[in-house]
Amino acid sequence: MARESRWLEGHRVSGNAAPSPWMDPLPEAAPALKGECRVDVAVVGAGYTGLCAALSLRAEHRSVAVLESAYAGFGASGRNAGHLTPTIGKDLPTLARLYGRERARDYVAFAEAAVEHVESKLVQYEIDCDYHPRGNVVAAVHPRQHARLEAAARLASELGAKVTFLSPDEMRRRGLPAAFSAGYLEERGGTLHPGRYVRGLRRAVLAAGISLFERTPVSRLRPGPEIVLDTAGGCVIAKAVVLGTNAFTPRLGLLRSVALPVWVSLFETEPLNSTQRTALGWPGREGIYTAHAMLESYHLTAAGTIVGGAKCVRYRFGGRPPPEQHPPTFARLEQTFRARFPELAELRIAHFWSGPIAIPLNFLPAVGRTGRYRNVYYALGYAGHGVAQASYLGAALADYMAERPGPADLFAERSRIPLPPEPLRWLTFRGLTALFGVLDSRLDRAAHRWRGTERA
Ligand SMILES: Cc1cc2nc3c(=O)[nH]c(=O)nc-3n(C[C@H](O)[C@H](O)[C@H](O)COP(=O)(O)OP(=O)(O)OC[C@H]3O[C@@H](n4cnc5c(N)ncnc54)[C@H](O)[C@@H]3O)c2cc1C
Repeated sequence: MARESRWLEGHRVSGNAAPSPWMDPLPEAAPALKGECRVDVAVVGAGYTGLCAALSLRAEHRSVAVLESAYAGFGASGRNAGHLTPTIGKDLPTLARLYGRERARDYVAFAEAAVEHVESKLVQYEIDCDYHPRGNVVAAVHPRQHARLEAAARLASELGAKVTFLSPDEMRRRGLPAAFSAGYLEERGGTLHPGRYVRGLRRAVLAAGISLFERTPVSRLRPGPEIVLDTAGGCVIAKAVVLGTNAFTPRLGLLRSVALPVWVSLFETEPLNSTQRTALGWPGREGIYTAHAMLESYHLTAAGTIVGGAKCVRYRFGGRPPPEQHPPTFARLEQTFRARFPELAELRIAHFWSGPIAIPLNFLPAVGRTGRYRNVYYALGYAGHGVAQASYLGAALADYMAERPGPADLFAERSRIPLPPEPLRWLTFRGLTALFGVLDSRLDRAAHRWRGTERA
């Protein structure tokens, strides 16, 4: 019980408060586990990883139970910005430098296949989540970034990605918002409603006859050839476990050095009125990411609101969850949004929220098996790009567990750069975010001056 209350620390899981507007209103949760249950595979966590793993395992006629602390979509899967992108690694030039072109080509193929996988699952499970397949633009905010983005787009094409460089003229022809001076379009993917996507997967899980226990935090895994998962109301006994717990995983006492659990925040505006919509342009509603060291993201939703986020990444010493409601962070988000969209000065922000992501040092997902009996499987660490990657790797765990070749092999059991222990971990985080903050502020000041002269 002590463990359970520590897990709940910092979260609003009681009552009816949704963790993001995507999840509002919260549906009725499935019953919590009571008593003992025996299955082939127990899946911990009902986000994209856990739900997709459960579906692919069930398709192989294995008995599966999903145990979720709160409700499906409580984690990042119900809180993200909704960009379905083939982005992988920190960026492709870095990936090619670190691993060579051949391997970078494999990563690109994986990431593009991950997007196609989600698209096919939306059709298979008949999930209506406002999917808008117009791609995502990686955008510059100042001309000094153009040459670098053009080179990145060229490299991406050479590595097999479906990418098009958008010159300043092309950006204006497409009517993209004026703040973004050039960029490249990742043609595969687009934007979606993350809450509807995760709920669609949840419906598919229930329809497949998988046992789903919500409001059922797993407090302990007892190792053995059959693993026992303890919860407040009972236990599950399973031949194998899948961890779909991404940034929450270290709190189970597992895989602490694989990925840094950090918190990022988003906002959603009120719906734009017709005057604001005309002033803004952006008729194609492509997703937008900026090419900052710590990126900004903007998504013009089907409901006519803007969901965005910027720069602020929070990590607390020891990985403890920081407060979800953090006014200084929200103020910075709003300030950045106002600077980027002066044409929307009257548009009010209706919601702010935060959620956890897991970042490995190489920005690549980690897949593997662990535990004394090697029967605990995991996929995690999508570095903020898990809409596609978590779904694909979650599903791919069935192949991996059966030792069949599949997409998980690209990331499985590779030598990883472990995170340093505390206090070095915290100091590294502080040092890197301070450095990135300085670089981004310089760029933003230049962008502000440049836009001033453009308008004059
Ligand atoms: C603010 C934000 C914006 C983002 N934007 C994007 C984006 O635009 N595009 C993109 O591709 N990615 C984005 N991401 C990342 C993406 O959302 C994640 O990579 C993805 O959702 C991870 O899915 P998951 O299932 O692995 O983890 P999660 O969705 O976090 O699910 C983990 C689940 O495990 C449960 N759990 C944890 N511990 C236990 C326990 N002990 N017992 C039982 N259950 C437990 C949690 O309650 C949770 O529901 C964003 C993330 C955030 C936070």
